[in-house]
Amino acid sequence: VTAICPSCRARLPEAPGDIGCQALVEQLWTREFGDFRYARLHRLSVDAYCVQHPDRYCASAKSLAAHLCGLCCHFEHGGHPAVYRALQRWLDGARELAKPELPESRGELTLLEPCAAQDPDSYASAVERWARSVWDAHAPVQPVARKWLEQSLAGQGSGR
Ligand SMILES: [Zn+2]
Repeated sequence: VTAICPSCRARLPEAPGDIGCQALVEQLWTREFGDFRYARLHRLSVDAYCVQHPDRYCASAKSLAAHLCGLCCHFEHGGHPAVYRALQRWLDGARELAKPELPESRGELTLLEPCAAQDPDSYASAVERWARSVWDAHAPVQPVARKWLEQSLAGQGSGR
């Protein structure tokens, strides 16, 4: 018997206590926190999960910007720490952002990809595949993410 997450469409194994998508991702994040070999994937898995669960994690334009631009940073800027930092600084400032309408489809893959991985290498490639499918599904709003990220990087250059 399975339950389906209404947000990311993952088919969830029904465990005792009706384990939901949120409980499952908390297990993932616990694995990332508890083991340095998984920890480097944390940022990417948070961004992928949050973009797939916008009602809970991307309610405001700013929270959407944080996670969508996080994916943009990973896939288009090589996940460079300086780009993440510029984004964070930019988000810390007062911003009036218009939240774009999100696409119906949120990606073919879900957190079940990394959940099934048994070792750090397969975990890393599973998170990568999952996040890539989320980013690709958001093609209609990628221009917005790129524009926000460019503004972040421009802010960094101005010395503020
Ligand atoms: Zn879900």
